[in-house]
This record gives sequence, structure tokens and C-alpha cells, in this order.
Amino acid sequence: MPSATPPAADLLAWYDRHRRILPWRAAPDEARDPYRIWLSEVMLQQTTVAAVGPRYARFLARFPTVQALAAADWAEVAEEWAGLGYYARARNLHACARAVAAAGGFPCNIPGLAALPGIGPYTAAAVGAIAFDAPVVPVDGNVERVMSRLHAVEDPLPGAKPRLTALAAAFMEDPAARARPGDFAQALMDLGATICTPRSPACALCPWQGACTARRSGIAAELPRKSPKPARPLRHGAHFLLRDGTGRVLLRRRPARGLLGGMLEVPGTPWRDARWEDAEALPHAPVAAPWRRLPGVARHGFTHFELEMVLFAATLPAAAAAPEGEWQEAGAARASVPSVMRRLLDLAAAA
Ligand code: SF4
Repeated sequence: MPSATPPAADLLAWYDRHRRILPWRAAPDEARDPYRIWLSEVMLQQTTVAAVGPRYARFLARFPTVQALAAADWAEVAEEWAGLGYYARARNLHACARAVAAAGGFPCNIPGLAALPGIGPYTAAAVGAIAFDAPVVPVDGNVERVMSRLHAVEDPLPGAKPRLTALAAAFMEDPAARARPGDFAQALMDLGATICTPRSPACALCPWQGACTARRSGIAAELPRKSPKPARPLRHGAHFLLRDGTGRVLLRRRPARGLLGGMLEVPGTPWRDARWEDAEALPHAPVAAPWRRLPGVARHGFTHFELEMVLFAATLPAAAAAPEGEWQEAGAARASVPSVMRRLLDLAAAA
């Protein structure tokens, strides 16, 4: 028999007492700023609340409003995003800020938000609910977990997503949730992050413990079940760390479109399934030089594949023509490249 949706009022009462204080969260008597909410949601898609905190504050200090972000050069945005991963998201963030600034502000409904660059259904729902009290329940991994447990959904993810989304949406039929959609969304997020946690849910502290089917059956910690992930393929690259006479390193900007679009990189070959033999890699070097292959490899995990890179190093010969790219001091180079490239700099430092 399907379990009933528990009262939203119980969760809201819990939230009113235990809500987390977060840098992007307005106090109950404060106006909600869609820019801050949107920025935090984009950042939180790739990393944890603890890791986002300082980066969020720094980003906001540099770009305090959506207009300031829209007016910034891409290079400034990329620099501030360095190390946060998923650069396509930073590009979309910038494009979205420009669209919002041009329109005079954020749209306050879900279709308007969803039409902005880089805003998917989850972010549109989160910003819509939290900033504008749109009557929706944004469903992320936390909310899927809570729903799977409340209703003891044993079908594995990702197949169970539509069912879990429908179970979450059913809360909007409860007048208490409908009266406070933004608080309800944040309450669910907080419950998932602090009580209904992945490994050992603190059910004794949960406002919904009496209604929770998985708790009653003793299977809460086992849910949600997940279909086994296919193994990520391994790809290979060879890169070239060129220094000039003063120790600066040569970086190159990647094409605007595609993986790490527009970011700086240590020049290299394309990434492919087969390993690069030295003789086939060297023609990709930015300049003819006495290249020396460094011992070891650098590895980096992308969402869809694992990358293994070898690194060649050389000093620019005095007679060589200046290759295309940007020369940067070692420290500045480290700060301005994405994490995958930092692994190459670490490999060079360890050699
Ligand atoms: Fe999660 Fe336990 Fe609450 Fe159920 S009772 S929703 S498993 S914390």
C-alpha cells in the first residue's frame, strides 16, 4: 500500500527551530536576493557546503551583483572559478548574468528562469522556490534520499527518479507547504543534509520519524538503492611544460566550446583512448625543443572518463621563435588553470 505524504507543517516547525545559517540564506526577516541564491545553487552543484562557503564569499566580494558579474570579462570570471571544476558551468554563469542584467533582473517564474543559459530544471525550481516562493519542490540528491526513505522506494536510482520527483511534488498539495514553498524547499535540503544523511540517518531527531516507512522497516540506511555505475573509460593525453629563461611557464587558452572551454591549459595533445607514444606526441609540442619526458603520470577524474597524462618539460631555446600562448609566473599559472592542469604542475614539481 502506498505510504501517505507526512504533514509539511511538522517539517516546517522543525526548520523554524533548526535551520542552518548559510552565507547565501536570508534570515526570516531579510529580503531574498535571487542573485545570491542562484550563485550558491550553481556552486553547490559541484561541491559541498563547507567547500563552497569561502569561495562563495570571495566570488561575491569580487562580483557583488548580477550587473557586476555581467560587466566582468570572461577571463576574470574564469580566474575566480579556477579549481571549482565544470568550467562549462562558469561560462553559463557568465552568459546567464549577462542575460539577466540585459533583462533588468531575474524572471520570477519557473519558465522564465528555465529559459536562461545554463539553468536546468533543478536550478530553476530551487531559485524559483527559494527566491520567489514559486510552488515547486526542487529535487536534488538529498531530496531523492528523503523521499525514497519516507516511502520505502526500493527501485534503484536513476530509474526511480520520476517516482521520487512525483512524491516530492505531492507536498505542494499540502496547504502548509504551499504557503511557504521557499522555506519548505530549504527545510527538505536541511533535513537531507543534517538528519536524513546518506549512511546513518539520525531518525530519532527527525520530525517525520512517525510517518517514515523505511524507518519502520529498518531499511533507512540502505536507501536509496543505486544501479551499478558503468566503469568510466580511461583516456590519455601528453602535455608540454615549456619554461622561458626566467622560469615562467607557457599556457594556452582552450577553444571556447567543449570541455574546459575557454580555460588556460598546459599545451598538449588531444585526449584519446590509446596511450601516446613519445614519437607521436612530440609533433604536438608548441615548439621544437629538447623535450624530456618526466617520470610518472598525472591522473584526473572527469564525470564521464578518467584521464591519464604524461608530461614533457623543456626550456625555450634562445633561438626559437616565441610560441603562441601566455607566459605566466609559476604561482600565477597554478592559480589560473583548472584542477586537471594543476595535476601536471604537481607532477613537474615532484620530478
Ligand atoms: Fe530519514 Fe529517518 Fe527521517 Fe525517515 S525517519 S525521513 S529515514 S531521518
